[in-house]
Amino acid sequence: MEERFAFLAEWYDPSAALLRRYQLLFYPKDGSVEMYDVKNQRTFLRRTKYDDLHQEDLFVGNRINVFSRQLNLVDYGDQYTANKLGSKKERTLAMIKPDAVTKVGDIIQMIYDAGLIVTKAKMTKLSWKQAGDFYMEHQSKSFFNNLVQFVTSGPVVVMELMGDEAVSVWRKVLGPTDSGAARKDAPASLRARFGTDGTKNAGHGSDSLASAARELELFFPSTTGHGPSNTAQYSYCTCCIIKPHAISEGETLNACFNLDQASAEEFLEIYKGVVSEYTGMVAELCSGPCMALEIHGPDAPREFRAFCGPSDPEIARHLQPATLRARYGKNKVQNAVHCTDLQEDGLLEVQYFFKILEG
Ligand code: GDP
Ligand code: MG
Repeated sequence: MEERFAFLAEWYDPSAALLRRYQLLFYPKDGSVEMYDVKNQRTFLRRTKYDDLHQEDLFVGNRINVFSRQLNLVDYGDQYTANKLGSKKERTLAMIKPDAVTKVGDIIQMIYDAGLIVTKAKMTKLSWKQAGDFYMEHQSKSFFNNLVQFVTSGPVVVMELMGDEAVSVWRKVLGPTDSGAARKDAPASLRARFGTDGTKNAGHGSDSLASAARELELFFPSTTGHGPSNTAQYSYCTCCIIKPHAISEGETLNACFNLDQASAEEFLEIYKGVVSEYTGMVAELCSGPCMALEIHGPDAPREFRAFCGPSDPEIARHLQPATLRARYGKNKVQNAVHCTDLQEDGLLEVQYFFKILEG
């Protein structure tokens, strides 16, 4: 029998304000997809080849786009699919410690090169108490005070990473705890590249699935509140959004969001009826995790706009090849980054992401 994978997928239908459920089938042999409406018991989409969907995107918790419909994969549809595609998926907590925060672009590259994805991220500054709770198991160690002192000395970036065997894969990317030992035994590792010594070692990774669950809950609580607050300052700022297609080339970050269609529409509202690419822009923005950054500077909106370059990457490559869009953009919709057009929108957009969606 031909191999196929089955999922339970949910789609929010904005016109009916209803959450619709589908059985989604994917046939790896020809990359085709089929959908069945569970409630009304009828075929919703006949088996159709769909090149934009790949097997590695198919796991519970992920959000995929099928013919411009944003679907949440909420469960595996059968045991075969769960065993084959789900059993090795793990989540882990990664922290970029204060000494390596400026290397966040390189570090995200290492994460994606290792086959992991960033599903949540936040920049935060830990208090002594928060750091002490985080490193609870080391309270009696001689290095405890030094350690807490170090991780509270500046902002850190915490991330939820996801992928096959994410816990051990991420620890392997980090390398040995001591940066000196890392340079000797694993010279390509993150701690070898960016760490200084035994305490200042650039990064943290959960050491087991149980620690990952505890640590993720500390920073990204599943029930009440949002955990330690982000570092947004809301002054002399503008908002940069690294679009999903360009995430793995991120330069610096503040937070990683999974925008749903309604939020993406709300955020891009001012472009509706103004820019012909509006629908494409919404679809791109919610097609995967994007990252929002608060960019600071005395004249941030204008300066950052110049740094991004013309909104069409083709034009950017001709006129201003050093700009972000010239370097990372593909087309008018997948143009690497969003930046504001209007001076006064800089602060409003930062507030939208860091107060309304996150706050
Ligand atoms: P990790 O899981 O590899 O981060 O290592 P541990 O959980 O054992 O230790 C937590 C953190 O404490 C390390 O990442 C280091 O920053 C620091 N640390 C661990 N062991 C030592 C040590 O022997 N001396 C010093 N100065 N710091 C240490
Ligand atoms: Mg540890």
